[in-house]
Amino acid sequence: AVKERGRKGYSFFHHEMEERSLERSLLENELQKAIHLEQFHIDYQPKVDLATGQLTGMEALVRWIHPELGRIAPNKFIPIAEETGLIIPLGEWVLRKGCAQNKVWQNQGYPPLKLSVNLSARQFYQADLLDQIRDILDETGLEPQWLELEVTESIFADIDDAAVILQKIRNLGVNMSIDDFGTGYSSFSYIKHLPIDTLKIDASFIRDIHQNKESHAIVRAILSLAQTLNLNVIAEGVESTEQVAVLSEGGCHQAQGYLFSKPISSEHFEKMLQNTT
Ligand code: C2E
Ligand code: MG
Ligand code: MG
Ligand code: MG
Repeated sequence: AVKERGRKGYSFFHHEMEERSLERSLLENELQKAIHLEQFHIDYQPKVDLATGQLTGMEALVRWIHPELGRIAPNKFIPIAEETGLIIPLGEWVLRKGCAQNKVWQNQGYPPLKLSVNLSARQFYQADLLDQIRDILDETGLEPQWLELEVTESIFADIDDAAVILQKIRNLGVNMSIDDFGTGYSSFSYIKHLPIDTLKIDASFIRDIHQNKESHAIVRAILSLAQTLNLNVIAEGVESTEQVAVLSEGGCHQAQGYLFSKPISSEHFEKMLQNTT
């Protein structure tokens, strides 16, 4: 009986693995085509000033709607795009499209807003990143202070290399933010050597900040670090007024999350601009 169960367990596991790699190669294949077929679009999620409630910027978040498979979550396809290198053309597309859209809104007369675009490690270390950013700013006419790039702590595996690239990007006048901050390293001390502008506190600490002492303490530590190093700080994944109360009290003045708005289409975002400005 034991043997029987063992074998069943094995074949079930085996079957699941096969299915997973099948799904993976399917997505890989479809992802390759999706770039040419323009199956992607960008949603924009507002960032707000907690004191005034005012819009301070927005994050570009890529969306993939496959004609047969439907909506596929970034957490599913971005890792595949990173492993296969498809993130390079996809990331360039998001950057170009986002910058062009931001410039269109400025040209329409809305108050200028800072656009954040996520940059994966693979993009960060690509040889022609600097040229690519410069060309896109040139082409779209967007001034660099209205662009911010979000990178995760994963790029700091080689901290010296990372610092050199960060400095070059900032020399262009583009802002740099560390996304999902607090999840990557056990020590924050590496931060003081890096040319960055903003820390974005990971949503996992915000989720239970009003109930969990540890999360609260970590957020307070990040806020005090940001203050000491004179960095901007923003909380991501804010969903409740209880969380806002704790954040405001702790000196965090910027947030992004479902409480204010989910990521929305460019059309919807533009309607919001019309109504709030
Ligand atoms: P991220 O950069 O940390 O983006 C924040 C994620 O949290 C987004 O998920 C957003 O929709 C979600 N979110 C925002 N507010 C809330 C909230 O209040 N509650 C909850 N539960 N979630 C909230 P999304 O759009 O699914 O993206 C997931 C991740 O995929 C992003 O995490 C980012 O790492 C990656 N990603 C998305 N777009 C791009 C892109 O254009 N390029 C690259 N390289 N990565 C991207
Ligand atoms: Mg981000
Ligand atoms: Mg994040
Ligand atoms: Mg994240």
